[in-house]
Amino acid sequence: MRAIDATRLYFDRAADHMDMSESMRELLLTAKREVSVQIAVELDSGDFATYIGYRVQHDDARGPMKGGLRFHPEVDLGEVRSLAALMTWKTALVDLPFGGAKGGIAIDPSKFSPRELERITRRFIDGIHELIGPDVDIPAPDMGSNSDVMAWIMNQYQKYHGFNPGVVTGKPVELYGIPGREEATGRGVGILAYKMTSRLGRKPQQTRIALQGFGNVGSHAAKFLHESEFKVVAISDVSGGYYRPEGLNIPQALQHAREHKSLKGYKEAERISNEELLELDVELLIPAALGGVITAANAPKVKAPLIIEAANQPVWPDADAVFDERGTIVLPDILANAGGVTVSYFEWVQNRQHYSWGINRVRQELDSVMSTAFERVWSLSQERKVSLRTAAYMLGIGRVSRATVLGGIT
Ligand code: GLU
Repeated sequence: MRAIDATRLYFDRAADHMDMSESMRELLLTAKREVSVQIAVELDSGDFATYIGYRVQHDDARGPMKGGLRFHPEVDLGEVRSLAALMTWKTALVDLPFGGAKGGIAIDPSKFSPRELERITRRFIDGIHELIGPDVDIPAPDMGSNSDVMAWIMNQYQKYHGFNPGVVTGKPVELYGIPGREEATGRGVGILAYKMTSRLGRKPQQTRIALQGFGNVGSHAAKFLHESEFKVVAISDVSGGYYRPEGLNIPQALQHAREHKSLKGYKEAERISNEELLELDVELLIPAALGGVITAANAPKVKAPLIIEAANQPVWPDADAVFDERGTIVLPDILANAGGVTVSYFEWVQNRQHYSWGINRVRQELDSVMSTAFERVWSLSQERKVSLRTAAYMLGIGRVSRATVLGGIT
């Protein structure tokens, strides 16, 4: 199954509960605009190379389109299209005045020097600068991109259109960024882990967690969960999994990852594979790396009764069906990882007001947005007897379809 089919399937499941017409489904599922641009750059070797950059602008019924820019070798138009649609449902679900978009370039950023990455980013913006803007479409970090990339985007855009830091979010704090943006997605995952487990009557100290992925999202989630006294027993990155049944020393693992740019060589744990991590006997599983890691093939072996999707689309629909049947609770991506875009929204607001908040206010407001969305999803799922994913989609797509009708279709 392709990512886009998974998004469509989840969408249809929710739309069926809402008696949504075929014509509205078609309208909401079709992207407003999709572009692919050539990125020809000179490499440090003096040679040159050509890449393709994508931007899919899915929907703007509720406001300017918003979504990250992914640098990963597996990026293609289909994946970007699916992730752009997820952004539309996500921003609507947490009620930000944004639509959804996503971009990507099929490169492995670790294979390039910072100067090469800068040239690639700037050429990409040369190709799309007329299509983005603070009132139109606002990029942000995603897998493989970071605040440096956002600073280059801001600067390159400025060359064409003048000073306007609100064109991109996730910028360095020293350059119109906001404190707390980097930790935001991981922190949001942690906030929801806390809410979800207490709703199920479980204390953090009694909750063993396996966390897949130790990038920006996974590492910040681990930090927050550890500080909240959860027992994080397994973590992983591309170098494999690290398991300690009594609970890992997360500050030590974070320091190792900072020093070595990876968990590779971390000794204070048993080595396991990324696949084994997913099947551990834990109370909570958090996939925070790539999509499609849990399918019908391994779902029956997943023991955790609760899964929080910190990554985008880690649970494939065939696995979701297994979990539904078995009563495994899945907190869906469009809610679980919405912390990042929420703090992006705070950054955009501040850029436009030329006014900065402190970290405490950012964290407080993030907590409030995530908690409100969680409560709404939880009560709708109880009320309509549907999964948390279907309830989240119903709320998200319901808001987008109402805005579409109110704004006028013709
Ligand atoms: N890339 C993040 C996401 O998938 C953040 C997007 C943003 O901040 O606009 O939600």
